[in-house]
Amino acid sequence: MLAPFTTFRIGGPAKYFCEIASEAELVEAVQFARQHGLKLFILGGGSNLLVGDDGFDGLVIRIVIDEPIQSTADGHFVNCTATAGTDWNAFVLHQCEQGISGVECLAGIPGSVGGTPVQNVGDYGQEVDSTITGVRAFDLEPAAFVTLSHDQCGFAYRHSIFNTSRRGRYIVTAVTFRFDLDARPNLAYADLQRHFADWDANKPAPTPLDVYHAVRAIRHRKGMLIVEGEADCRSAGSFFKNPVVPSAALDRIAANLELPVGEIPHWPTVDDMVKLPAAWLLEKAGFTKGFALGRAGISSRHTLALINRAHATAADILALRDRIFDEVLSRFGIRLEQEPVQPSSDGGYPLPVLKS
Ligand SMILES: Cc1cc2nc3c(=O)[nH]c(=O)nc-3n(C[C@H](O)[C@H](O)[C@H](O)COP(=O)(O)OP(=O)(O)OC[C@H]3O[C@@H](n4cnc5c(N)ncnc54)[C@H](O)[C@@H]3O)c2cc1C
Repeated sequence: MLAPFTTFRIGGPAKYFCEIASEAELVEAVQFARQHGLKLFILGGGSNLLVGDDGFDGLVIRIVIDEPIQSTADGHFVNCTATAGTDWNAFVLHQCEQGISGVECLAGIPGSVGGTPVQNVGDYGQEVDSTITGVRAFDLEPAAFVTLSHDQCGFAYRHSIFNTSRRGRYIVTAVTFRFDLDARPNLAYADLQRHFADWDANKPAPTPLDVYHAVRAIRHRKGMLIVEGEADCRSAGSFFKNPVVPSAALDRIAANLELPVGEIPHWPTVDDMVKLPAAWLLEKAGFTKGFALGRAGISSRHTLALINRAHATAADILALRDRIFDEVLSRFGIRLEQEPVQPSSDGGYPLPVLKS
């Protein structure tokens, strides 16, 4: 069963499953899949997945390459390479303990280093791509290891080539980051400002490690930290992305809620588009914290996190998702987008034909 390998604790069996701890083992596993005509699914920490109840009818490769972090100094910068199976939070802690800024706001995000470039993880005012300089990956098309530069990864909000145009083509084995040793911790985000509001002005400014602990404390309060045994943690984090829609959508929402447009929280993006907080839309549509639909529900601490209340199946979670999708669409004309990936028997990644 794949359920124990996911933070949702949901998911049926894989036809074949292996854990690979080195690049050589990865090549062997891919060859096995090719010889047997199997679809592939790459599993990291399982924290952004909703595995179906029928599992995966192919080979699931769990990446556990976990080697020591390699750091090299370069003037005012330090370049660090971490292998894909390294626990992401451990990597963040490693940097913060050395007083290095750049990923401190990403503390407490579950999963592996290799999973972070896939959806360009971000929160509390930072996105991981601001420090990534290179991604080493096995490219299934020529069947060779390659290093992609930052620009080749096509990073944007919750977006990269790994989850869009080249989905399934690359298996990430290591990520290289570049940190500016002169950078100061990022305290711009409102939650962090509130947290540090009564910081003693006579003390030195908060260090990256102070911010690391602050972010984890805030996440815990919001049920966004994995704590064994807490029902709110059996989730895949935020289930819905913040929608980016034409600004005209604001009028429809205002009319539906009988509110002035000015009272709708939104941020202008580009080309007359606005980003809306998905959590606000859910709440206005009646899906508030603690909402339950059978064995599925909404976290009691975070509106965007769908949770496995107890023994939920993927079908339970999807029923709740669809209810939310339908209500938000019919009330506000907004089609929400799901964040977690859904490997399924008819999904997965067919192996590309090798170019001879
Ligand atoms: C409580 C909680 C809080 C969260 N908070 C945040 C947050 O604040 N911000 C945020 O952005 N996300 C957040 N997430 C989502 C999730 O933690 C991240 O997306 C994480 O980076 C996923 O990494 P993973 O190793 O668990 O990947 P998995 O869930 O195992 O996989 C996710 C996708 O990445 C692919 N993948 C994983 N590893 C590799 C690899 N080595 N090579 C190629 N493809 C790979 C998989 O095939 C799949 O498509 C949260 C999740 C939870 C449960």
